[in-house]
Formats: sequence, C-alpha cells, structure tokens
Amino acid sequence: MPRPILATIHTAALRHNLERARQGAGSARVWAVVKANAYGHGIERAFAGLRAADGFACLDLQEAERLRALGWRGPILLLEGVFEPRDLELCSRLSLWHAVHCDAQIDWLAAHKTQAPHRVFLKMNSGMNRLGFGPARYRSAWARLSALPQVDEISFMTHFSDADGPRGIAHQMAAFQAATEDLPGERSVSNSAAVLRHAQDAQVRADWVRAGIVLYGGVPDYPEHDSAHWGLQPTMTLATRLLAVQELQAGDTVGYGSSFTAPGPMAIGVAACGYADGYPRHCPTGTPVLVDGVRTRTVGRVSMDMLAVDLTPLRQAGRAAGMGSEVTLWGRSSQGAVLPIDDVALAAGTIGYELMCALAQRVPVAVDE
Ligand SMILES: *Cc1c(COP(=O)(O)O)cnc(C)c1O
Repeated sequence: MPRPILATIHTAALRHNLERARQGAGSARVWAVVKANAYGHGIERAFAGLRAADGFACLDLQEAERLRALGWRGPILLLEGVFEPRDLELCSRLSLWHAVHCDAQIDWLAAHKTQAPHRVFLKMNSGMNRLGFGPARYRSAWARLSALPQVDEISFMTHFSDADGPRGIAHQMAAFQAATEDLPGERSVSNSAAVLRHAQDAQVRADWVRAGIVLYGGVPDYPEHDSAHWGLQPTMTLATRLLAVQELQAGDTVGYGSSFTAPGPMAIGVAACGYADGYPRHCPTGTPVLVDGVRTRTVGRVSMDMLAVDLTPLRQAGRAAGMGSEVTLWGRSSQGAVLPIDDVALAAGTIGYELMCALAQRVPVAVDE
C-alpha cells in the first residue's frame, strides 16, 4: 500500500476562482498566470479549470510548449520575455507574446529573422526595481521597438510592489500613466492583489489583468482579508492519514529537540507528512491542521516524513480519531471543512504562494473534476 499522503487539485474551484477574478476585472481580459508549474498545481492538471481564461502567462518556454501541447491556441505571454536570442525562434514558431524589459532583448529582436512579426509587452519599471525600463527611458525603448520589422504590436505593462498593502499603487500608476499616456496600444498592470483591491478604477483594470494567486484560492492581502472575504475556494488539498496514536502523560515530550512537553495526559496522532513533502519545517507547535475535519494544531517539530497533531479537540468532541484518520494539512477535508493554505503559511512565517509552489515531487497528485 502506498504512503497515504495525497494532494488533490480541485478543478471546479479553479473555475470558480477564475470567474471571481473575471468579476473584478470587469471588461478587461484575464491572463491566467501559470508560472512555477501553475503555482505548484501542475499546468496539465490546472488547465481544465483555467481554460476559460483569455490567455496564459508563464515564465519558461517549456511551460509555453506544454500549453500548446494541451491544445491551447490563444495568447500566451512570457512575463520576463526571452532569456537568450534563440528563444525568439520558439516565440515565432509557437506565436508567443513576450515581455521586453531591457535593451539586450531589443537587440536580439532586431537580429531575429522571422516571417511573423511578434507582439511584445514593453515592461516599465515604475518603482518595483526588478525588471523594466524606467520612466525616463521607456519612450526611447518604445521608439526603438516600433521601428523594428520584427515587431507588429506593442503593449504596455508594469508590475506593482504594494498592491496588497498600505502603500498602494498610486505612485506607480502615476509614473506609468505619465509615460504611456499618448502611446497607442493595450495595457496590463494588475496582479491578483490589484484586481481584488484596486480594480474599481478602469485604468487599473486596463485591457488585461494578470491573475495568479487568486486563481489558486490564495489571498494576497492575508491576514487583512481572508479567502471567505474575497469569495475564493481552495484549489489544492494536501491530505494524509494518521499512522499512529501516542497517549502522553504530563512531562512527556514530542519529536526532535523535545520542543513540546505535554502539560497533562493527552493523545497525539502521528501524521504521514513532513518537510520532505513540502510541509514547512518552520511551522511551530500550534499550526492549524484538520483531523477528520476537526480543527486542531500541530505539536512539536515537523520532521522529514512525519508530524504530530493534538487529538484533544477530537476527544473532547467524543470523536474516536485514531490510526487511519484523515489529516488535512491545507485545503478541504472530505467532510467539507476548509483549512485555508494562508493560515498554515502565516504560522510558518511565509505566504500561501510558497507552500503551493513547494509541494514536493514525491507527493502523488490527483485531480478532482
Ligand atoms: C507572478 C506575476 C503576476 C501574478 O501575481 P499574483 O500576485 O500571483 O497575482 C503578475 N504579473 C507578473 C509580472 C508576475 O510575475
């Protein structure tokens, strides 16, 4: 019998969350961002739930090839553009749209031989200081690109650093608007946080939004808001079973480093999930977890293949949790109880994005249609 751990991808929830992003986007088209293998879900597994998107945005050429292999004939955008000149051949062959964020990428385009001119998204660095031309250099980059026979349509994009927080997006919007105001072409500025928090403004919705985490039910501004507030559903469940139960007495300790000491008699369950499955080792005692759909907590250190859970709330409720009981690390239990991935991420000092992306190779994954 295989180890009882299993991740499940919820197709209906992906569909629901995409619809939710669409509501926020108004009449703008929606890129489904599927970088990092669809935020750990698997591009092939997520595709069925996301195929109603207007386009797919990714990073790797290999991800773009996989989307074409799935039969997707609509737009695909490479968010960071190409990494070397020969990548442009694949862009031509697969009709990929690509970001242009630096002079080298323009040089490569200028030297590229193609029958089919490319659609490009000229990236502005409006304050994030990762990729893109700063406002002062943006127009000259645009002028260079528009003179190239290899380019047919130029769109404009920028990325927000603080759409999820108090600083907001006004300063970046102002820089972007000022530099692009009179330039002809489509615009894309919003990530998930901007779609949820700032898209009352038509300039923020623009022509395309780039929805990532929201599709996967993660909340960009957690804990200020939660998934119930934004109407999002979990798209990934990580579940396992109890391998053993230990009855502890006062003073007994649990796991490596004996970091948890039982204050009195209590039962703990030992679940078949550890950091080698992608569950964060940083989760301290008290991290939320569901056992047979009942919310309880982890106790002691997470080890490579196992972690311990407190069975006290189940005993109090008269529930006979034991070997084989279902443990939901995040997502939806088979009884329907939900443990948002953000709750677990917060305990681990990270964000839901990282936990999804870190689901380990060794965990088998099922798709629930
Ligand atoms: C990852 C990414 C997004 C999506 O971000 P979310 O916060 O997941 O919505 C949008 N735009 C760019 C350029 C990105 O790299």
